[in-house]
Amino acid sequence: MPKGQIIDSHAHLTWDSFAEDQKDVIARAFAEGVVQIVQAGVDLKTIPEMVKLTEQYKEIFIGVGLHPHEASIWNHEADKTIREAAKHPRVVGIGECGLDFYYNHSDRESQLACFKAQIEIARDLDKPLIIHSRDAFDDTFKLLEDVGQGKVRGVFHCFTGGPEVLPRIEALDFYVSFSGIVTFSSAKNIQAAAPLVKADRILVETDCPYLAPQPMRGKRNEPSYVWHVAEKLAQLRGAPLDEIASQTVDNARRLFNLPS
Ligand SMILES: [Zn+2]
Ligand SMILES: [Zn+2]
Repeated sequence: MPKGQIIDSHAHLTWDSFAEDQKDVIARAFAEGVVQIVQAGVDLKTIPEMVKLTEQYKEIFIGVGLHPHEASIWNHEADKTIREAAKHPRVVGIGECGLDFYYNHSDRESQLACFKAQIEIARDLDKPLIIHSRDAFDDTFKLLEDVGQGKVRGVFHCFTGGPEVLPRIEALDFYVSFSGIVTFSSAKNIQAAAPLVKADRILVETDCPYLAPQPMRGKRNEPSYVWHVAEKLAQLRGAPLDEIASQTVDNARRLFNLPS
């Protein structure tokens, strides 16, 4: 793969898929020029494990939050746990949180309540939101717009929308993160959106272990494969790969306030 520096803005390295070889996967990422990784949180019980990981590697930062799949467990205690955990200096974002009306693993009411509370946490603590939004853009925008533009910032991770949703994202001044999905030939709508996002608002991610990009599709995903996402974006935007890489590094550092 091409060399240079890149950031995987969304990964899940503490999950079981990496239990056997997490160290090797991380070493491979560094060897391939992945200079920083943001590990996104999905639940409360794995926060200590994520904290351990970020304390072990100065290049890995974490987000804490409750995924919409888990939203039905949301309560005052969960709110407190996330606010407390976010005090750790290596916590760079709140999430992933949001709405998933595709799977609906938690009912819609709980998802809306859980997301709203985390938007308030992000606003109160001045941390960016890591947003998971699937088949739920309209409700996602409404909640964010209620809090108010400029009062909260963040990223739409694993972007699955098309050009039609970009104006509202732009109005909120949020970032858009592309995952391996953009490399799939069926992802015409996402590919149509890719050239339209402003250069200073694009990120790349793996969301590993899921969603390995072409040509690795079907395999377990890992941070070093983020290059394939960047390569696809370079092609779609008609820009050199090294420009996409350095632009997305700058963007991730600005959004998450990562050291350079
Ligand atoms: Zn997600
Ligand atoms: Zn994720």
